[in-house]
Amino acid sequence: MKYAIGVDLGGTNIVTILMNEKGKIIARNKRTTEGWKGKNHVLKRMAEGIETVLENQRDKETKRQIVGIGIGTPGLVDFDKGIVYEAPNIPNWDNVHISRIYRKKFGIPVFLENDANSAALGEWWIGAGKGTRHMICLTLGTGIGGGIIIDGKVYHGANGYAGELGHIFLSFDGPKCGCGNPGCMEAYASAIGIIRRTKELLKKNKGSLIYKLVEGNLRKITPAIITQAAHKGDKLAIKIWKDTGYYLGCGIASYANIFNPEIVVLTGGMTGACSLLFKPMWKTVRKRAFKGAIKNLKILPGKIPDDAGAVGAAKTAFQRTM
Ligand SMILES: [Zn+2]
Repeated sequence: MKYAIGVDLGGTNIVTILMNEKGKIIARNKRTTEGWKGKNHVLKRMAEGIETVLENQRDKETKRQIVGIGIGTPGLVDFDKGIVYEAPNIPNWDNVHISRIYRKKFGIPVFLENDANSAALGEWWIGAGKGTRHMICLTLGTGIGGGIIIDGKVYHGANGYAGELGHIFLSFDGPKCGCGNPGCMEAYASAIGIIRRTKELLKKNKGSLIYKLVEGNLRKITPAIITQAAHKGDKLAIKIWKDTGYYLGCGIASYANIFNPEIVVLTGGMTGACSLLFKPMWKTVRKRAFKGAIKNLKILPGKIPDDAGAVGAAKTAFQRTM
């Protein structure tokens, strides 16, 4: 049996997992990233995570059968050279040759993958996409990340930039996106986009329950609060999720027409609002996509939200060595 280590370097936590080639999780460690303490501290935290999952493997055979370490990381990555050029939220992180550092330390090959691609691969391997060949994954958070799985492999494109699904274009004169362009799906349906739309609508709806829930402080609005208000019947909150479902449905209809996936998986912090999102989302997908492109399509929330990134990173190590 072969084994691999997967590391998910997140802004808040580092999740490290030891897995066998059949997709079974053998050991798991979760620790805080403490990114504000800088590059060397984070590299040390990651190494400690790896050491911890190895520690309890009394069976030396397991250690000998480890094919590599996969690391899912945010920021600008060179997959071939194994360099992370910049990582958001970690000061003084510039051009870190992460593969070389850990290869030297642990004596096994190290492979990098972008965090959204890792999460997609993890969900595809043992999560919601298990058993499919073609999958699209959207990570709904502060922004919208994406991953495209074709025939069980992450599609990287010519320069590793493929999968920026949040920046699909919805409107010529829409709100400005973090990428600088107007009208991206991310500008409407990410947490930032949802909060911006909520604040706009609140100006004309002072009676909304959302006001009460944040005690008048609009800075406290989060997608979770909007969900809470919607579940209590607040009309504005329900409208926000309905519109969000519509925007996501527009994007998903386009992905269906372009990629014809078997499944679209939604992960990230907003999946708590799923029941409110799914109806308007499906309505839009049915209306906009070609019938043949969505004939057997499933849209499901992610099944392994905490581990998808690390699981996908381990799978990356398997796929690039076997
Ligand atoms: Zn954009």
